[in-house]
Amino acid sequence: MSEKKKNTFETTCCYCGTGCGILASVTKNGKVDVEGNPDHAVNKGMLCSKGMNLHYTVNDRSDRLLYPQMRFNKNMPLQRVSWDNALDRTAAVFKTFIDKYGPDSVAFYVSGQCLTEEYYVINKLIKGFIGSNNIDTNSRLCMSSAVVGYKMALGEDSVPVCYDDIEHADCFFVTGANPAWCHPIIWRRVEAHKAANPNVKIIVVDPRKTDSCSVADIHLQINPGTDVTLNNAIGRLLIENGRINSEFLKNNTEGFERYKEQVFERTVAEAASICGVSLNDIKRTAAYIGAAKGFLTMWTMGLNQSAIGVNKNLSLINLNLITGHIGKPGSGPFSLTGQPNAMGGREVGGLSNLLPAHRNLNNPLHRKEIQEFWGGAAISEKPGLTATEMFEALENGSLKAIWIICTNPLVSLPDVRQAERALKKAKFVVVQEISNKPETLAYADVILPAAAWLEKEGTMTNSERRISHLAKVLEPVGEALPDREIICRFAQKMGFSGFDFKNDADVYEEHAALTSGTSIDVSGLNYELIKGLKTVQWPFPKDSIQTESKRLFEDHRFLTPSKKAIIHSVGDAIASEQPDDNFPLILTTGRTRDQWHTMSKTGKVNKLKQHLAKALLEIHPDDAASLQIKDGDIVSVNSRRGEVQIKASLTNALKRGVVFLPMHWGKVLNSDLNRANNLTNNLVDPVSKEPDFKFCAVKVSKY
Ligand code: SF4
Repeated sequence: MSEKKKNTFETTCCYCGTGCGILASVTKNGKVDVEGNPDHAVNKGMLCSKGMNLHYTVNDRSDRLLYPQMRFNKNMPLQRVSWDNALDRTAAVFKTFIDKYGPDSVAFYVSGQCLTEEYYVINKLIKGFIGSNNIDTNSRLCMSSAVVGYKMALGEDSVPVCYDDIEHADCFFVTGANPAWCHPIIWRRVEAHKAANPNVKIIVVDPRKTDSCSVADIHLQINPGTDVTLNNAIGRLLIENGRINSEFLKNNTEGFERYKEQVFERTVAEAASICGVSLNDIKRTAAYIGAAKGFLTMWTMGLNQSAIGVNKNLSLINLNLITGHIGKPGSGPFSLTGQPNAMGGREVGGLSNLLPAHRNLNNPLHRKEIQEFWGGAAISEKPGLTATEMFEALENGSLKAIWIICTNPLVSLPDVRQAERALKKAKFVVVQEISNKPETLAYADVILPAAAWLEKEGTMTNSERRISHLAKVLEPVGEALPDREIICRFAQKMGFSGFDFKNDADVYEEHAALTSGTSIDVSGLNYELIKGLKTVQWPFPKDSIQTESKRLFEDHRFLTPSKKAIIHSVGDAIASEQPDDNFPLILTTGRTRDQWHTMSKTGKVNKLKQHLAKALLEIHPDDAASLQIKDGDIVSVNSRRGEVQIKASLTNALKRGVVFLPMHWGKVLNSDLNRANNLTNNLVDPVSKEPDFKFCAVKVSKY
């Protein structure tokens, strides 16, 4: 364990992808205290409100699942069983389905909060031994458009920048993100840089006026969905103003001529009208970007969670490419990871279309390499089911069994009524969880109690490719076990070899060996080194010496076959469900400052409820007036999928015609009418398969 002084351990925050270092101490009465780690490269002692209150979530164990439970058929109640009973039965059911219907009849739906070692063994089990690629994670709901964008433009899913680039940048283009609330410690650094250097320019693009806008020089309050139009217009102005990097374009990119034709198809004035922002503000934005020596683009869900999420990503990355702002200090496209280990999950290949160490599922040599390394079944060439596809397949009966780990799809999936129908129809549901609260438990045939943060060891990778170790500080509650151990025990019950790891360090070393020679090579790492260096950015091949923060592509050689970055021309058609006379408003959803995901941890902390105790519908005062709605009225929000009943909050922070709901709330006092995803739809980006959470048509009326 990385024990700093007696009873104080170095670990990492389990919430957002910023990856702040935390010191967790065990007091004399066995309770845990947390503080920011002053020696940590990321946060230097600072924590946001969620991180600061983590000890409450650890010390309150009243909601924890304590022992395995199982029902013998759907009509019987759950009853307490031993671990052997639960895993024997689960293995028997999985074997039966696999024998009868094939390996694709079972699936794992996991989480960007899983540790790298957990992701690794689940991925190895399903892809390498069961013989299916049916593993997907809630990262599909959050990062998959960015993954595809990076792969298409740069050749691999590789975030090229590091946090130290913040102090080298003089222009920030923050789009579809509210880092002041969702990545607060990164944003404090941007704010401090701006305060010390008033000439630094910050442009925020968001249909809502968020806290991140308070330090912005320009807030482009665009109409929802018009990001590509805006980015292409800025690209056109950069070309017209001679603010592109011709040498970089000639030597290090492909596709510029077609891009130029594409962006010149629409005038900037037309774009301003479509986006609903002033022509002058777009021109000022292009002027700031054109004059920048260091240009950082930052984004999260506003771009990713879209039926055109990949196009939005590509149109943004294009701005870095045409200006040559990549692979040098203060510059690059920086996708802010939503979850703490979405990046680590991708490194081990934990999505239905990936293989470990950024290998490609559609490459027969890569499949063979992995199969030979693991020594199990041949890797199937058929991509597995993505998050939403799994629930469609459960409902139509083609998927028989699902194993859900560390995520609550009955709050977080779009069109969540469909997910309810799916779980009701599923033949067999395993839920591996820490809390007795999630709605999924009502559908479980087997419930497996998992160890929580501080009760297990492992590693995570943050938004800047920084790997850190999480110490085990406490024994798990009751009979709970670490997720990694549960999966390894299950694999052995299935009769598979290769899962008898002595500990998590062994799992890490196997993962590290598998990265050898790839672009994310961490074969030089093991737990002792990571703990000794405190944190390490990848790549870290054998015999590396960590000196300073790293950025990628400093030699301007990209990971595409031609070693050139690809500028993709993308059209700006919007694929979302459009408002009409029956559903005239656009609903967009998102996070609040002090809650995390589906609230199984932050929902336990009274202090965090002080910011926003209940979900509210934000609506523009003019829209509210036309509907005779006053601030605080209960309103009914309806879409073609379902209904939400909730208090209205009138705010000028939204554009007319747009309403906003927070994503966190599920059942409150047995009512699920606070749940935003009753309303959202199942449209997904055709390539990334990421859902369109930021755009659906609704109507609002006084209840
Ligand atoms: Fe945790 Fe993110 Fe807050 Fe840091 S910024 S303390 S990682 S939630």
